[in-house]
Amino acid sequence: MSLVVVGTVAFDAIQTPFGKTDKIIGGAATYSGTAASYFTKNVKLVSVVGDDFPASMIEQFRKSGMSTEGLQVKQGSKTFFWSGRYHEDMNTRDTLDTQLNVLLDFDPVIPDSYQDCEFLMLSNLMPQLQKKVIERMRTRPKLVVMDTMNFWMETQWDALMETIQLVDVLTVNDSEARLLTKEYSLVKAAQKILQMGPRYLIIKKGEHGALLFNKEQVFFAPALPLEDVFDPTGAGDTFAGGFIGHIAQTRDISFDNMKRAIIFGSAMASFCVEKFGLERMIGLTQAEIDERVQQFIDLVQFDIELV
Ligand code: AMP
Repeated sequence: MSLVVVGTVAFDAIQTPFGKTDKIIGGAATYSGTAASYFTKNVKLVSVVGDDFPASMIEQFRKSGMSTEGLQVKQGSKTFFWSGRYHEDMNTRDTLDTQLNVLLDFDPVIPDSYQDCEFLMLSNLMPQLQKKVIERMRTRPKLVVMDTMNFWMETQWDALMETIQLVDVLTVNDSEARLLTKEYSLVKAAQKILQMGPRYLIIKKGEHGALLFNKEQVFFAPALPLEDVFDPTGAGDTFAGGFIGHIAQTRDISFDNMKRAIIFGSAMASFCVEKFGLERMIGLTQAEIDERVQQFIDLVQFDIELV
């Protein structure tokens, strides 16, 4: 039931209405891998960092149960850097800076011990690199999930379209679904995206939950109404990590199980936003996770009798 997670491992500088950080550890694969590691101890990371990345953090990845054999450390290069500023509503943000640095000549290597994985999470990264990872798998994983973002839609459209064609599940947020399709209605946007290749689509709507589509069905999961949202960075990646983590743990790729996976993903994302960066995502207990999932169940459970 091994799960390969590929994506950025980064330094982030974040501004929210509650404060700002200097360079802290971030990155799509960092969040996805960490979230998934609560569900399966067979998470295998593929990424690249520069020699400025702290060895203690790589050790932390290992402590969380991730294999780092596929994490390259490039001497003389700088780690990918991203900086963003959240608006007052905490749901929207502006990217202030994206420095690809070590990503520019990243050639992902899939170690032998990662081959024949059943599940592949393509967290946010250049789409042509996501594609390369699919191509470098000796056997096609049972389920390939891909996340992407507006940055790649604006700069690498063709490569993005080629990669989207190859995956089973695509996750984007609502504004990205609209950007991909030029449709305002998310239902129409979903129909168009499902024609681009993926069999399933998840549209994340921040504090308003997430929608799961296939061609015939749709499922909606709310986000937990939280008293304090401190920093939404990584929430989407954490969501995706919880989603694929649950699927890898249960090895069930049915639509019904994806519904449960969305709840687990949402529960993990609800922790992520409570503190800056990864802070809240390290050292969670099973009891804390179970309690969050129970809150989701209670939130949406009701009896109704149609006459
Ligand atoms: P999220 O808030 O889930 O969209 O993810 C935020 C994380 O994505 C941050 O930790 C960034 O380091 C990372 N990130 C930002 N821009 C990009 C990009 N263009 N490609 C890959 N990862 C990115």
